[in-house]
Amino acid sequence: MVQALVIGGGTAGIASAISLAQRGIFVTIVEKEPSIGGRASELCCKGEIQCVKCDVCLSLDRLYEVAQSKYIRVLTNSEVIRVSGKPGSYRVTVIRKPQLVREDACIACGKCTSVCPVEGSAIKPRFSRSVPMTYWIDEEKCVRMKGESCERCSEICPTSAIDFNARTTRKYLNVAAIIVANGFEPFEASKDRRLRYDQIKDVITSLEIEEMLSRSGKLTVPSTGLICKKIGIIQCVGSRDESMGISYCSKVCCKYSLKIAQLIKLKYPETEISFFFMDWRPYDSIDNELLDWAKKNQGVKIVRSRPAEIIESENGKPLVRYVTLAENKIEEEEFDLVMLSIGIMPPSDATKLSTILGIDVSPSGFISSKDADRGIFAAGCCTGPKDIEESFMEGVAAANRVAAFIGGSK
Ligand SMILES: Cc1cc2nc3c(=O)[nH]c(=O)nc-3n(C[C@H](O)[C@H](O)[C@H](O)COP(=O)(O)OP(=O)(O)OC[C@H]3O[C@@H](n4cnc5c(N)ncnc54)[C@H](O)[C@@H]3O)c2cc1C
Repeated sequence: MVQALVIGGGTAGIASAISLAQRGIFVTIVEKEPSIGGRASELCCKGEIQCVKCDVCLSLDRLYEVAQSKYIRVLTNSEVIRVSGKPGSYRVTVIRKPQLVREDACIACGKCTSVCPVEGSAIKPRFSRSVPMTYWIDEEKCVRMKGESCERCSEICPTSAIDFNARTTRKYLNVAAIIVANGFEPFEASKDRRLRYDQIKDVITSLEIEEMLSRSGKLTVPSTGLICKKIGIIQCVGSRDESMGISYCSKVCCKYSLKIAQLIKLKYPETEISFFFMDWRPYDSIDNELLDWAKKNQGVKIVRSRPAEIIESENGKPLVRYVTLAENKIEEEEFDLVMLSIGIMPPSDATKLSTILGIDVSPSGFISSKDADRGIFAAGCCTGPKDIEESFMEGVAAANRVAAFIGGSK
C-alpha cells in the first residue's frame, strides 16, 4: 500500500491526512502532543448565537473523521528523529514517548480523574474534544511523578490502562512522501518587557482569553475572579516589532481580536473595550470593520497609538500608557484586564526538523514551503503566519502535490 507521512496533527496536518485518505493513500500522522487538533483545540468558538466565521470548528469538526478513517494512523506523543532513503522510498524513524495511559485500553470513563489528589486532577483528556479520547497524565502535576507513592488512578482504572512503567519506543515507517505541518509557536509575551506580562496578574495573552472563554464561557479578572467590566486590547504584540527582531505581520491577530471583542460585547453589553493599535490589517481586507463596529457600539473605543507600556496603577490594576499617533501626546488609562494580542512565531523545532529532512528554513525561521522534487511538502503556519482557513486549504493543496508526486514516481 502507498504510504505518506504527515508531521503535525494541527489544522493543516488534518486537512492533508483526510485528503490523502480520500485518495486511498495510507497516512501516518506523527504528532508530538498527546492528542491531535493543534492550536485550534485551544481556541474558542466566537459565534455564540450565530456563526461569525472564526473557523475554529473547521478542522476540529473533522477530528472524528481522522479517528475513524481506515487509511489514517495517528501516532501521538511521537517525533520523527531520522529520515533516510530516497524520494518515493523514505525510511522514517519515529520515537514515541512513554504512553502512561494506553490508548488501546483507555475507555475515557473518568474514574481516574475523580480520585486524583491533585487540584483540578493531573489525569484527564487534554482538551474536551481530544482525539484520540485517551486520558493523559500531566507529568508536571502528577504527585507520583514527583516521587510520591500514589497509585489511586491505576487502582481504580477498570481496564488497567495506566502503566507507570511505560518506556520510550521506536517505530519505523516506509513512506513515499512527507508533508511537514508542524505549525507555530505563539509569541512569548514576557519577552516584551514594557508590557510586564509576567509581573501584573491581570495582563494576559489572547491565547489565555481564548482558553478561558472556551473552558468557562466567562471573561473574568484573574486577580479577583470577578466579571471583567473594562478591557484594553493591545495589538501587534510580537508582530511588526523591530525591537523584538520581528518585522513581519502575523496576519491573524486583527481577525481574532475583533471577533473576541464582539463575543465579549455580546455576552456582556456593558463591558467597555479599548483597542490600541498602529494600523488595522484585517485578514479579509474589510478595513473599516472595526471602525464601523466601534461606531455602532457604545463603550468601544479605538485608540491609534504607538506601542504601549503597562504599569500597575495605585489601585493594583493594569494601567496602559501610550502615545497617540494623531497628537503625539502621552496618555494613560486604567483597566480591569489587558489582553495582549500575541503573534505567530516559527515552530520551535523548525531547525531540528529541517536538518532531519534536509529542507530549508527562511531567515525569519519558518520552513521553506516545498521541496517538490524530493516529495517533501510543507503546509500551514510552519511556512509563515496564516489563519485556520488558509492553513486548511494549504493542507489540501499539499495532499494534491503528494498524490501527483506519488503518481509520477510510480
Ligand atoms: C491567540 C490566537 C488566536 C487565534 N485565533 C484564530 C481564529 O479565531 N481564527 C483563525 O482562523 N485563526 C486563528 N488563529 C490562527 C490559528 O491558530 C492557525 O491558523 C492554525 O492553528 C494553524 O494550523 P497549523 O496546523 O498550521 O498549526 P498548529 O495548529 O500549530 O498545529 C501544528 C501541530 O503540529 C504539532 N507539532 C509541532 N512540532 C511537531 C513535531 N516536531 N513533530 C510532530 N508534531 C509536531 C503540534 O503539536 C500541533 O499539533 C489564532 C492564533 C492565535 C495565536
